Amino acid sequence: MDPTLQRKLIEQVANALISHADELTMLDQAIGDGDHGLNMKRGALAILERLDDLAAMPLPDALKAAGQTLVMKVGGASGPLYGTLLMTLGKEMPIAPRHDDVTRAFGAAIEAVKKIGRSDVGQKTMLDVLAPVHEELALAGPALPDRVRQRGAAAANATVPMKAIKGRASFLGERSIGHMDPGARSSSLMIDAVCTVMEG
Ligand code: ADP
Ligand code: MG
Repeated sequence: MDPTLQRKLIEQVANALISHADELTMLDQAIGDGDHGLNMKRGALAILERLDDLAAMPLPDALKAAGQTLVMKVGGASGPLYGTLLMTLGKEMPIAPRHDDVTRAFGAAIEAVKKIGRSDVGQKTMLDVLAPVHEELALAGPALPDRVRQRGAAAANATVPMKAIKGRASFLGERSIGHMDPGARSSSLMIDAVCTVMEG
């Protein structure tokens, strides 16, 4: 990938998380322990610190390095889960990916998250955004980032009426119903940022 585009991609995703840290914190205060905003902000800042470095690497290496940074710097469940997502994406992605390569690599990355999270779709987690977005990627084709973005946003909204089965929110049982899952929201924010860069 063109280093300028890669730099923009990393920057926009990180900035989306940083600028929405308060919102993510509030969501996690409602059904978790209130650290999701800070966790994601810490990860995003650590990635921005390495921006020059990451922008210059081949895309697969940059994804792996970003994932390792998240695993090392971000506490909570989300660090290892998002770290695994990015590391697997990097492992599965060719140097110059076509749309089909991205779709396949993203599918493999979601499977890796399920494995380390011992979780699945339908449990009110980040997977409830990642999996529908993967489905949309397969359907939409490279020319339609707006469809992917909208699917991600709709999927995050659709976690509101769900009952949490995994993660801290599951401790609340029925009381987890009526709030958006914080990880679903952070996933949709990141996907939104990627789609915006791809449109440009
Ligand atoms: P913690 O739950 O340890 O405080 P965060 O608040 O940073 O960590 O992240 C919480 C988010 O992580 C949840 O909203 C959910 O989307 C996601 N999550 C938690 N556990 C799992 C799991 N086992 N599988 C997939 N996603 C999970
Ligand atoms: Mg939390």
